[in-house]
Amino acid sequence: MENTEKIKVLIIGSGPAGYTAAVYAARASLKPVLYTGSQPGGQLTTTNDVENFPGYPEGINGPQMMMDLQKQAERFGTKVHFAQITAVDFSSYPLKVTVDGKQVLEAESVIVATGASAKYLGIPSETTFANRGVSACAVCDGFFYRGKEVAVVGAGDSAAEESTYLSKLCTKVHLLVRRGEMRASKIMQERVKNTPNIQIHWNTQTEEIVGDEHGVTGVRINTNGESRVIPVQGFFLAIGHKPNTEVFQGQLDLDEAGYIKVMPGSTKTNVEGVFAAGDVADRIYRQAVTAAGTGCMSALDAEKFLAAQEMELAHQ
Ligand code: NDP
Repeated sequence: MENTEKIKVLIIGSGPAGYTAAVYAARASLKPVLYTGSQPGGQLTTTNDVENFPGYPEGINGPQMMMDLQKQAERFGTKVHFAQITAVDFSSYPLKVTVDGKQVLEAESVIVATGASAKYLGIPSETTFANRGVSACAVCDGFFYRGKEVAVVGAGDSAAEESTYLSKLCTKVHLLVRRGEMRASKIMQERVKNTPNIQIHWNTQTEEIVGDEHGVTGVRINTNGESRVIPVQGFFLAIGHKPNTEVFQGQLDLDEAGYIKVMPGSTKTNVEGVFAAGDVADRIYRQAVTAAGTGCMSALDAEKFLAAQEMELAHQ
């Protein structure tokens, strides 16, 4: 049987965007209800130290930061549920979302902050060495590889940008390109090609990441059928991200890569009362601090929307 419960602000996602939206909505007495999804805390729980979030001069451990954000959101009255939103129906108002395929909730506004996930190659050693030499974010983790040799896999703008970024910190960057050309923009390719400590390995597949109990020691690559191990201490994935928007297909306007489209300068989606914040609507910046920023914006947008709804009702 259907169980319905009406909520003023329902937040989907528990990364910096979701929790920041919760802090703002809770402090505006909107009693937000937040559903964490399958990875409570989001992408930051897969990283070690976060040293680029303002306000932490000594850096902060990623999972710790997310627990702190959760506590901060709860302190002001956010209800956090460790469950998954499995379906939404935004075709009528109030908005409807289904939790774990069972419970249907009604909400006056919804903030989507489901994030994005880095794409992985699908080889077992990626998981074995996760957080021990394998990373999907050079800006987050590159610092830990100062003075070391690393590999980057990918051939798009992200791979070009991450290789260039790492080349300033590392002794050498091996860029592993699976075809004989790169997809990255010309200017970014030129930058990579003109950086002396970046070596491009064309027509190269990553076979396996190798290492020991301390972490990554190398990567086994295959170039034109020839297999060999190159010594690296860090292995960076830059083969793209996938926004977590499966559940919103057909409900919200998405761009060609699946990111939620928002009105420029706001977090408004094409559906009234539905807002999007963080990486799910951002294919460019993808930083914790930018996610927190748009999370704040989404709560303010939701608050304004709800106030306008109330005014409208009062005048009816
Ligand atoms: P892209 O989808 O553009 O590129 C992914 C790259 O990864 C491709 O070159 C692809 O190779 C390669 N790849 C995919 N799977 C594998 C695999 N299994 N093994 C080896 N290589 C693989 O993703 P990006 O993240 O680079 O960019 C996403 C979007 O963000 C783009 O629109 C980009 O322009 C934009 N962006 C812009 C930036 C900027 O302007 N500063 C910075 C970063 C991103 P192949 O080419 O063979 O398919």
